[in-house]
Amino acid sequence: MSHAGRPAASTCRDALGAILRVQEFVAAGVPVQRVLQEICAEAVDMLGADAAAIVTTADGVGNRAFAWRTDEGRELINAASPASLWAIGQSASRGELDVAAPVSIKKEAGQASELIAIGTPLHAEGEALGGMFLLSASMPPDRSDVDVLKALAGHAGIALVDVKSARRVHEAMHDAITGLPGESLFHDRVEHALAAAERRGVSTGLLSIDLDVFSAVNDRVGHEAADGVLRDVAKALTAVGRAADSAARLGGDRFGVLLEDADRNGALAGADRVAEAIAEIVELPQADGGLGASIGVSVARPGECSREGLLQRAELAMREVKKTGRGGLRLYHPDMGGPRIDPAALTLALKESLEHGDMRVHYQPLVSLLSEEIVGVEALARWQHPEHGMLPPDEFISGAETNGLILPLGREILEAAAADVARWRSEIESAARMTLSVNISAPQLKGGRLTGEVARALAATGLPAEALTLEVSESLFIGDDPSVGDRLAELRDLGAKLAIDDYGTGCSSLGYIQEYPFDILKIDRRFVRGLSENRDGAPLVQSMLTLAEQLGMRVIAEGIENAIELAQLKAMRCEIGQGFYFARPVPADRLAELLVDPSQLLSAA
Ligand code: C2E
Ligand code: MG
Ligand code: MG
Repeated sequence: MSHAGRPAASTCRDALGAILRVQEFVAAGVPVQRVLQEICAEAVDMLGADAAAIVTTADGVGNRAFAWRTDEGRELINAASPASLWAIGQSASRGELDVAAPVSIKKEAGQASELIAIGTPLHAEGEALGGMFLLSASMPPDRSDVDVLKALAGHAGIALVDVKSARRVHEAMHDAITGLPGESLFHDRVEHALAAAERRGVSTGLLSIDLDVFSAVNDRVGHEAADGVLRDVAKALTAVGRAADSAARLGGDRFGVLLEDADRNGALAGADRVAEAIAEIVELPQADGGLGASIGVSVARPGECSREGLLQRAELAMREVKKTGRGGLRLYHPDMGGPRIDPAALTLALKESLEHGDMRVHYQPLVSLLSEEIVGVEALARWQHPEHGMLPPDEFISGAETNGLILPLGREILEAAAADVARWRSEIESAARMTLSVNISAPQLKGGRLTGEVARALAATGLPAEALTLEVSESLFIGDDPSVGDRLAELRDLGAKLAIDDYGTGCSSLGYIQEYPFDILKIDRRFVRGLSENRDGAPLVQSMLTLAEQLGMRVIAEGIENAIELAQLKAMRCEIGQGFYFARPVPADRLAELLVDPSQLLSAA
């Protein structure tokens, strides 16, 4: 079925171009039906079939979409009854249509017509959603058509996941019962308010509100009346906040109110008004004494506190009220506890720790799935905090990215890791060709010093450039910056390898893969987990492997946690993996032991 006159070598570019265009449609928020039509049109065009169709099961994601290239194709589609196309979609989703097979489509008038179809199941989030297939009146399909169709369908699945999650994100923004903003929107508002307050030099107040006897109300008056109570509370809160959208429902019977430009007294006065409004408005049928609320109050002076800090403090204060019994309000006090590292104090603490040399590097082995030998390591930062012990990167990397300390921190990790790996390569025979992967953040790529720092670290340690891989998270590319491309090209000119990390977690990655010179694609743990959590996870991983192969990239699967995931990845001929199943990230001395005696590898997991 390959397009007459189109050389086979161009198929990969065509497939990529088709997928890119589809991704652009998804990113632009085009309705699902049109995205599916676009996918069909691309498939028809690329593979030269008479027609293509997608049939998805009725879960709200899609239904049927067609495209044709020839008059025969139009006839085939027009002649096909919806029921028989549905049946083909169903058998495709069961994998029964995996190879070329003549399928008989019933015309509306009852006559049957023979045609050739190849099909492949369509999956989204591990769920079989139907099938995608090519129809042709005459030519038999060839094997490479099936592969391309599979890759396209795999990415159509990703497109459907994106559409589904975009819809979920939208729904999650507002609470269906009260119409108030939900948690994520509220967090966003708080963040913006804090930034604006810092610029204007004013304070910001926050109230964390928990209704006291709401579960009893729910039991007594039933869900519907209880929903009415929630709506009344929402109205009361909206009246108290200055802006109409400063109140939010944070889940269950928990609410929040943002008080912009409010100091301590202003915030306490706001809390008083909330308490009164709730007590007044909510006259509960058959309830003893109405509804009460526990209100925690926190206030941030300009620049004092991050969003997390302000929210956490209000919640801690609210819990203090709860402890004392029914109702009331409290202002946050440091004795009530707080985050391990106060976000406001992070910059100073991190600076001191960098000066004292409190950063550590842990290493996680990268393992050849074929031989189960260690072929390299990924360096992962740890902070040996003087009070809180060993802190994982989640607690400080994003803060360091914001305050700029990621630059010295990243350099330190790179230098220390290059020295360790160069030493292991020269001292341990089996490690002579091992590689090092180091994570790079956006500010490092956007600043002008990275290339020089990498060159110096290599020269100082004797680690060959080709043994170094720089991992760049896919999410980094959102928001784009022209200097990123230049920096990546410079690093590659040095001879270092580039990996795209957490592949599949960003939304429009395919463009970047094509645009930038990546050597390695790291499949995110989310997809690897799908291999053991539901039996339909494999097609997505397979389509990523196919894409990588077509683009000449190597693949590393991240986060392998069990034998099922390992076996599936091996069966799909994935080359390299890392994960707790082999080993967790470990300090340098422990990693050296693993290199000397790799038989400890699985038992170390
Ligand atoms: P990453 O680069 O994707 O690193 C892999 C993360 O997955 C590591 O988390 C690792 O411990 C974890 N992991 C590995 N195998 C498994 C598994 O089988 N199951 C599960 N659940 N997790 C597994 P870690 O060390 O907490 O690092 C988190 C992230 O912090 C890294 O994700 C990376 O984005 C960032 N990071 C770490 N070190 C640095 C650094 O030196 N510089 C920069 N810029 N970022 C870093
Ligand atoms: Mg990484
Ligand atoms: Mg990753």
